[in-house]
Amino acid sequence: MSSIVPKISEVKDLTRIERIGAHSHIRGLGLDDSFEPREVSQGMVGQVNARKAAGLILQMIKEGKIAGRAVLIGGEPGTGKTAIAMGIAQSLGSNTPFTAIAASEIFSLEMSKTEALTQAFRKSIGVKIKEETEIIQGEVVEIQIDRPATGSGVKVGKLTLKTTSMDAIYDLGSKMIDSLTKEKVQNGDIIKIDKGTGKITKLGRSISRVRDNDITGSKVNFIECPSGEIQQRKPEVHTVSLHEIDVINSRAQGFFALFAGDIGEIKAEVREQINHKVAEWKEEGKAEIVPGVLFIDEVHMLDIECFSFLNRALEDEMAPILIMATNRGNTTIRGTDYKAPHGIPLDLLDRLLIISTTPYTEKDIQKILKIRCEEEDVDIKEDALALLTKIGVETSLRYSIHLITSASLVCVKRKGTEVSVEDIKKVYDLFVDVKRSVKYLKDYQDEFLHNTPITNA
Ligand code: ATP
Repeated sequence: MSSIVPKISEVKDLTRIERIGAHSHIRGLGLDDSFEPREVSQGMVGQVNARKAAGLILQMIKEGKIAGRAVLIGGEPGTGKTAIAMGIAQSLGSNTPFTAIAASEIFSLEMSKTEALTQAFRKSIGVKIKEETEIIQGEVVEIQIDRPATGSGVKVGKLTLKTTSMDAIYDLGSKMIDSLTKEKVQNGDIIKIDKGTGKITKLGRSISRVRDNDITGSKVNFIECPSGEIQQRKPEVHTVSLHEIDVINSRAQGFFALFAGDIGEIKAEVREQINHKVAEWKEEGKAEIVPGVLFIDEVHMLDIECFSFLNRALEDEMAPILIMATNRGNTTIRGTDYKAPHGIPLDLLDRLLIISTTPYTEKDIQKILKIRCEEEDVDIKEDALALLTKIGVETSLRYSIHLITSASLVCVKRKGTEVSVEDIKKVYDLFVDVKRSVKYLKDYQDEFLHNTPITNA
């Protein structure tokens, strides 16, 4: 388990960037000091009751009273369920992990449902690692640099350093080797190594080398033999998710698997070892657990096995805050013949704090569209915003948000500086909303059926 501390401060999940983009204007729940929602704040508009309830949940989380419970947000599509979940995560602090998945993502041929859920849970638990970096001073006894594997560019090697108390061998990484070369370090030099940054500084030559007579006469600054082993300590803080630690420790090329996305199933023993190690770090004051937020959209798509997994997972002391969302009322619990509210079994429903979101008023839609325009750096004329709002009321908020981006492209193309009514009209014709799309297909289908050519049998 020597590789357990990952030397990375942040790994961005590239597949999520687009989803995060849609909510990039959300910076919190927009509550005042007494947890009351402000009209427009931190990118949040309206949905006052749901935000008030979310504020209470935030208080429960902060006071450690949420354990064993979860949150369910019910409401029509596009009423801000994801936005509220994200607002809760952001109100918990900038380093709070937030993972959003759709329940249907759990079902894949690559891994079991419970493995996919476990990974989602562990992505939502942060580990703040406080690492002490050491600065060591000593005399270079031997430098050994391994030939880098062709094309990999990764250089490794070893350095034997004589310090006051011992001869120590250090593993060298690429950064350290580059630094050694730049400083023209050779045997007999007194150097300082910052183990955290990999920086190596040459301080002079060891006094013992004068006796060796190897460089006598040159203008080198000779120093007494290594004065101290550890010169300085400074703590550095990295936040990584438990899942990242799992992946890095689960296979030889672990770190690269994070980028390739080729993760596969992770063995239970690896996770157990990691939990144990993290608990140890916590005990020693080296690490802090940061429970994040796991948001599962379309939760009615989960099946009975997944629900029983969730019931158990909520009991775990390292569980993140689980927020689920649905737009279904009474529906069948997947994997059974029974119907239940939101398609969720009663034993799980029992643990839920339920919040509901309501459809937006025209005023709210206008405010959200205005915020989105600012977020996307789009200047829009008053009458164009009014038209966009009308479209939002008649179709959906999401559809009108999408039109902002395309209308601004049309505006740039005609070398305009502000999106006009004409730009909106153009993209409204180019991209149809769901109602028009269905109608078009239906009309076309009727026409097609009535005109089916009679082929020769
Ligand atoms: P679905 O059920 O389809 O997943 P949803 O209820 O999760 O939808 P969101 O995705 O949160 O809806 O909302 C749609 C868009 O509107 C997003 O870009 C979101 O950030 C924005 N939005 C929704 N509600 C608000 C709000 N109250 N204030 C600001 N922006 C909002």
